[in-house]
Amino acid sequence: SLDFAKPSSTRLIAVANQKGGVGKTTTAVNIASALADHGLSILLVDMDPQGNASTAMGVQHAEGDKSVYDVLEGRLTLNQVRSRSEHFPTLDVVPASIDLSGAEMELANLPDRNNLLNTAMHQLLSESPTAYDYVIVDCAPSLGLLVLNALCAVHEVLIPIQAEYYALEGLGQLLHTISLVQHNFNPSLTVSTMLITMYDKRTLLSKEVFDEIQQHYNGIVLNTTIPRSVKISEAPSFGQSIITYDPHGAGAVAYGEAAYEVNSRSESVLQQLSNNHQGN
Ligand code: ADP
Ligand code: MG
Repeated sequence: SLDFAKPSSTRLIAVANQKGGVGKTTTAVNIASALADHGLSILLVDMDPQGNASTAMGVQHAEGDKSVYDVLEGRLTLNQVRSRSEHFPTLDVVPASIDLSGAEMELANLPDRNNLLNTAMHQLLSESPTAYDYVIVDCAPSLGLLVLNALCAVHEVLIPIQAEYYALEGLGQLLHTISLVQHNFNPSLTVSTMLITMYDKRTLLSKEVFDEIQQHYNGIVLNTTIPRSVKISEAPSFGQSIITYDPHGAGAVAYGEAAYEVNSRSESVLQQLSNNHQGN
């Protein structure tokens, strides 16, 4: 069995890509679950008004339920809105509700509008610095204010990339946005990880996408790829991650290995990546 060492301080990771349907939520939920399955303490924050990560974790998030929306609006703390997942004793979830869809407009005129999540996160982590090994933020498919809040609250970005013909389209814009955020708001931000999702080992295209991305982003893209699997897409409708829904299947194994790779990246590698990134 793989050894999942505890990171020396909380790792804060946003799962982001402005394209919809590339596997952001699936990756956020299943990496969080795989890490929790190995005993690490995880906070999963749903920052997408659609609330898909909340659904996948079986956490209630109807309109009006307490959610990350209340946190951004300053009414509640993260501590007050998080709830424990049913399936893992060390995994907490901060749900998103559809109310969040109005937040971009409502928050647009606040002076510190890009740092609302960051401020709330600081408060949580300064009250209990050892509470979490990881905070994983699932982002909406946009480059709007909610995503900006996520990027200002983390140190790392994990970009899921679907193995498809248009895989690289839009990636340049995403990386440009991330570097703008890094220069203007959050110097500690780095793209630490790319993960190829919905990989079909029977097609040449999948392999070509993987090879091309590995060439361009050597050291960032995980060796593990996530296979296309019906079980992975079914799990959310049972309020479960693939880790509990089909623990021995290819999907759970792949997300387990991806989580292991993420956790194995030592601080020196992350520092190296961050230096390279700043040089660009
Ligand atoms: P995003 O959050 O980027 O919009 P999702 O994680 O919601 O993307 O995934 C989009 C759709 O693809 C969902 O229906 C999801 O269940 C499905 N999906 C994601 N990953 C896989 C996979 N590895 N195999 C099969 N279906 C997948
Ligand atoms: Mg999503």
